[in-house]
Amino acid sequence: MERTASCLCGELRITVKGEPTRVNMCNCNECQRRSGSVFQIGAFFDEGQLKSIEGRSIV
Ligand SMILES: [Zn+2]
Repeated sequence: MERTASCLCGELRITVKGEPTRVNMCNCNECQRRSGSVFQIGAFFDEGQLKSIEGRSIV
C-alpha cells in the first residue's frame, strides 16, 4: 500500500510504501502545541519505505 501525506496548502508531499513501523498518539503539552489539537497522532516509517518527497519548504 502506498500513502501520501501533504501539508495543508499542498506544497509539500511525501509518499511512502508499506505499513508504518509504529503509530502513536500523545497528548503531552509539546504535542498539543505542535498539532494545535488535544492529541497528536503520528505514523513512522523506515527510511527504505520512502518513495518520494515533493515540493519546497519556505521555512
Ligand atoms: Zn507528546
